Amino acid sequence: MICIPIVSETTDKAIEDMNKASKLADLIEVRADYIKSPDLKKILSAREKPLIITIMPEQENGKFKGTEQERIALLKQAMELGADYIDVNLGCTELNNLIKNREATKVIVSYHNFEETPSDLDEIYNKIKSTGADIVKMATFANKLSDNLKVLNLVKKSDKKIIAICMGQLGEISRILAPLYGSYLTFASLETGKESAPGQIPAETLKNIYRIHGIKPGFNIYGLIGNPVSKSKGYVLFNSLFRQYELNSIYINFQVVDLEDFAKSFPEMLSGFSITMPHKQEIMNCLDEIDPNAKKIGAVNTVVNKGGKLTGYNTDMTGAIKTIQGKTEIHNKHVTILGAGGTARAIAFGIIEKGGRLTILNRTVAKAEKLAGELRCSFGPLSDFEKLRTDILINTTSVGMHPHTGEAPVSTDNVRNMVVFDTIYNPEKTVLLKEAEKNNCVIISGIEMFINQAAEQFRLFTGIQPDTRLFSL
Ligand code: NAP
Repeated sequence: MICIPIVSETTDKAIEDMNKASKLADLIEVRADYIKSPDLKKILSAREKPLIITIMPEQENGKFKGTEQERIALLKQAMELGADYIDVNLGCTELNNLIKNREATKVIVSYHNFEETPSDLDEIYNKIKSTGADIVKMATFANKLSDNLKVLNLVKKSDKKIIAICMGQLGEISRILAPLYGSYLTFASLETGKESAPGQIPAETLKNIYRIHGIKPGFNIYGLIGNPVSKSKGYVLFNSLFRQYELNSIYINFQVVDLEDFAKSFPEMLSGFSITMPHKQEIMNCLDEIDPNAKKIGAVNTVVNKGGKLTGYNTDMTGAIKTIQGKTEIHNKHVTILGAGGTARAIAFGIIEKGGRLTILNRTVAKAEKLAGELRCSFGPLSDFEKLRTDILINTTSVGMHPHTGEAPVSTDNVRNMVVFDTIYNPEKTVLLKEAEKNNCVIISGIEMFINQAAEQFRLFTGIQPDTRLFSL
């Protein structure tokens, strides 16, 4: 179930938000500690969905300013008024009485740790269970990705109704996966900016993009690993494809700061994953097999897990070459690549394979020289561009990418009557492409490469060649 917490500061505003939340949530939590003098009667009579009343004291990161007696009186009042649930912190002095005197109201007993996910989670769980709680709630802070596994394992083995989540950016994955493994509910924000705890995902995203209500046991998990991953839109694309092809699968962003921590336990959970910066090279040390093209390029952007065996691929090369071939032949054309990083490398190998006459230009000439040495092609500084004959220009530098959208990697005066492919997809049309279009060039946006390389990833993951007309970003 999706539970939306309401963090409004007045009773009336809380009711307004409850009405909005009712359209998305299965359950609603009113954080009555955010309201100065909460009118619980008014709030409870306005409910359209089952309601949790929570009144957290300041030591639990709550906002309740009154005395402990006043807080307990409000919790008792919530029970008398027929609240569906109350959330009581494990340290509450009156916990036993509240549990003993409950009637229809279910008591959630909660443990919060805003600093870490402690190693004695089982002990804390047992302590909460022994209080006679109807539902155990544990919310801890994730300092590393593997903290999520501690919490997810607890959910899997719990014989009691449990709500368990990791808070913080690194804990986001638990907010998606915990309910799929059996957590009673997951908290999701009404909208961005209305979170009651760090890391909450908007309810609409959880419901309509991740489709957490539609995922059944035995699901496959895929994802993107990288740092940062927050700007990547792959999860929108893949989850939409899973829906359209009716696959019981989910695609999640994993913010991987520490690849070793990730590699210890996550790959076995995943059926496959995409890799972005900065892990495309390092991931190669964690694999059982590497496709010959990826080996040649020296970077892996796709990993498939077949029965525990991890194989790495590079779909940047195939995606980019397919994109260019959609507009022009490559054989015997004069191709200039700007940049000599990971993307340049993948595309350069593809251009040589297709018989293009390649020159690599880069700000750091030594890097261009090194790559050109491997490929036996020409190289030089970016300023050489104006001297060169170019039929196909490919920008693989990050110049022109958001937020520096006003910049171009070379002077656009010389970009005329050629095919211009910018691998940048944010923005979709860079200054380079805009100017090239004015100068009678055929232009190709990075979004096309993104789509083609993602289609190839989807095929490797699922065996299905997707119809790229179904792609939505
Ligand atoms: P990378 O390995 O870090 O390489 C970055 C390249 O950009 C290097 O050649 C670097 O030159 C150059 N560069 C950076 N800042 C520069 C500046 N101010 N002036 C001139 N050159 C500059 O990165 P990457 O993984 O190859 O990614 C590069 C681009 O490809 C990104 O914009 C990314 O969005 C795009 N990309 C697109 C797709 C897609 O599907 N469309 C897929 C992957 C990547 P130095 O060597 O001198 O530092």
